[in-house]
This record gives sequence, C-alpha cells and structure tokens, in this order.
Amino acid sequence: MSDLEQFRTETRAWLEENCPPEMREPARDDDDVCWGGRNFKFKSEAQKHWLERCVAKGYTVPDWPKAYGGAGLSPAETKILKSEMARLGCRPPLSSFGIWMLGPALLKFGTEEQKVHYLNQVARGEIRWCQGYSEPGSGSDLVSMQTFGEDKGDHWLVNGQKIWTSYANKADWIFCLVRTDKTNKYQGISFLLFDMMTPGVSTKPIKLISGNSPFYETFFDNVKVPKHQIVGEVNRGWDVAKYLLGHEREMISGGGLGEGMASIGAAWKDVAASEPVLRAQMALFDVEAMTFRAHSERFMDQWKTGTGHPAYSNLMKYVGTELNKKRHELVMAAGGSDALEWESERSKGGAKARTWLRTKANSIEGGTSEVMLNVVSKRILEMPGG
Ligand SMILES: Cc1cc2nc3c(=O)[nH]c(=O)nc-3n(C[C@H](O)[C@H](O)[C@H](O)COP(=O)(O)OP(=O)(O)OC[C@H]3O[C@@H](n4cnc5c(N)ncnc54)[C@H](O)[C@@H]3O)c2cc1C
Repeated sequence: MSDLEQFRTETRAWLEENCPPEMREPARDDDDVCWGGRNFKFKSEAQKHWLERCVAKGYTVPDWPKAYGGAGLSPAETKILKSEMARLGCRPPLSSFGIWMLGPALLKFGTEEQKVHYLNQVARGEIRWCQGYSEPGSGSDLVSMQTFGEDKGDHWLVNGQKIWTSYANKADWIFCLVRTDKTNKYQGISFLLFDMMTPGVSTKPIKLISGNSPFYETFFDNVKVPKHQIVGEVNRGWDVAKYLLGHEREMISGGGLGEGMASIGAAWKDVAASEPVLRAQMALFDVEAMTFRAHSERFMDQWKTGTGHPAYSNLMKYVGTELNKKRHELVMAAGGSDALEWESERSKGGAKARTWLRTKANSIEGGTSEVMLNVVSKRILEMPGG
C-alpha cells in the first residue's frame, strides 16, 4: 500500500470515529455553521465536539504547519482529507475569514511571532475576524480608500469609515486597510490588525430590504493601533491586500467542490422528467458545473503548489459565482410558486427564495463580475486598453 493509500485508510477510520452523525448532515442555516470567536455559542454538543476533535488533530487548517495549529499535510494529503470528508458528508468543523483570508496572507507576509500568535488562534477558532476594506466611494476602486492612520511614534491613530463590513457585530478583530501616506496612492496603504473592542471603534447595522443584515458601517474615531500590529511593511499593505483578495476570490468561487455544484438534474429529477425545457437547461447547467469542477481541481492543485497564474482566482470567481446564480435561478424555476414562499415553516422560512436572493451578492462581494472580467482581459488574456 502506498503512503497516500495508507493515509486515506487512516483518515477514513479517524473521520468515522470522530465526526458525530449530526455533523454529517448538511448545514440548514447559518446557526449550523461554526464560526468560532469569543462570543460564539455552540448550537449543540456535537458541533463543539467536532470542532475540538479537529482542533486537536490540526484538521481545521490541515495544510498549515503544525507550529501554527495545522496538521502539516501535503497538498495531496489535504485533497484526500477533503474528499474523505465529502464522502462522509462532514460539515467543515470551522468556517472563518481567518482561515480563508487572513491566514494565507499571514503565512506569506507575517512575522514568525505574528504567525505563531494569530494563526494558532485562528486554527482553534478563538478569534473571529472581519474585513475592513470597502469604504463609501471605494469599492471596486479600493485603492482610493481614505481611512487614515497618523504616525504617533509607537502607534497609529486611525480615523475614518469602512462600509459593508460583514459580521462586524460578531467579529473580535478586524484586518483593515489604512492609508499611512497620503502622497502615494498604491504605496501609501498599510495592513493593520486590531481588536474591535479598542476604544473608538463603533459599528452601525445596514438594514436590507429583508429586514435583517449581516452588514455594518464601521467607524474609527481616534483608534490607537500599536505599531507591531502591522502585517508586512509600512505603506506596502496593498501587496498584502491583493494577495488576500486572491484567496477571498478563490473561496467565493466555491472551488467547484461545494453543494452548489452538485447535479441539479438529479436533485430535481421529477420536475426534469415532466418539463422538457427545464430539463434541457438543467442538463446544460450540469455539464457546465462538471466542467467547472474539473477546471477547479486543476486550479486548486496549481494554486496550492504556487504554480498557477496569479490572476486565475479572478477567472474562477467570475465563473463560479455566475454558475451559482444560474443554479438558483433554475431551483426557483423548478420550484414554481412554492419556491416563492417566504415565511412558512413548510418552506423553512423561505429558504429557497432567500438563498436565491443571497446568490445575487456573490458576483458583487470580493470584487464584482465586471471587475473580474477586466482583470481576466488585462492580466490573463493580455488584451490592450483599460
Ligand atoms: C455580500 C457582501 C459582503 C461584503 N462584505 C464585505 C466585507 O466584509 N468587507 C468589505 O470591506 N467589503 C465587503 N463587501 C463590499 C464589496 O467588496 C463591494 O461591494 C465590491 O467591491 C463592489 O464595490 P461597490 O459596492 O462600492 O460598487 P462600485 O465599485 O461602486 O461598483 C458599482 C458598479 O460599477 C461597476 N464597475 C465599477 N468599476 C468598474 C470598472 N472599472 N469597469 C467596469 N465596471 C465597473 C461594478 O461592477 C458595479 O456594477 C461586501 C459586499 C457584499 C455584496
């Protein structure tokens, strides 16, 4: 038996033994997702147990080094772990901006001290992070951001405002872009980390038409950020920000492995049998999803080994999010008027309609589809202009 086959056998046995049956059911809503953080309340003993078992094994971040809370798995082993988890239907033990976004940026740009400190906290799910990038008037044109950090010797004094800060109310810390030089657009931004409890930080919810909102405006009023809480060099935060965005876009694309890319024709076979037009659309979607999944696998292999085109995550984000939107359009069409139910128990609080509406944001968050296409044309296709 090869080493990898041996690893697969052991992993399968470990998962069978340690993943509670409740954690093998698909998550029904956000409450089923373990986000971690200082104030996180576990929904069940099973959720807590699953997180603790994975933390002990390094499986919340399997490919990170052991010194930073990971399991030190190779890309091939990580792939095996993921496929074995998918086979058993295991939920991710921990979902976090720390894992998907900040972690990779710290692994590349952080000091050894920062890696040991922050990455271990992320891996254990102790600190929940939010992202302070967008500002009113600075979304796609992020580099025009104005939140300013004045150099005060041992700290920066930060003043300004962020917008669309997802889960700012639940986050413990923020990774935040702050202008530290007003004379240089690109090389005048620094990437700072600070506690949301720091005096001067306040948040205000942005209400959506649905009545609730995970979005906040985040205000900084003379917030003191110690100098050692910078990632990378002073005024070179744009490099960190861009690198992090690559990981964010890869994450939002869905990587082709999530439930969103499962066969829609199989899920709605009764409708497909009686509706030829829908059946054709579903078949076309399934072919596109399969192609995307195959493409994603190649992309992920290249991404993990650092051999892919650095701008490729933009292409994956564009295709993955547009496909996800298409999938939910089809779900709504297949579900008919039933799918439009908004509040009943039968419709699980309008789960289908709410998920469909949420997918509309996929092609905006982390950079819009139009902006992704601009990047693809310039950096991958090397087309002139713009
Ligand atoms: C669900 C969700 C969660 C989010 N979470 C966060 C978060 O946690 N933290 C955070 O900092 N931000 C967050 N955002 C904000 C997000 O990053 C911005 O919405 C996004 O970057 C677009 O910026 P904008 O909304 O200012 O739109 P704009 O930049 O004003 O764009 C408006 C329209 O113009 C188009 N456009 C703009 N420039 C160009 C161009 N050069 N070429 C062609 N078309 C163009 C865009 O495609 C879009 O259609 C979130 C957004 C969403 C939807």
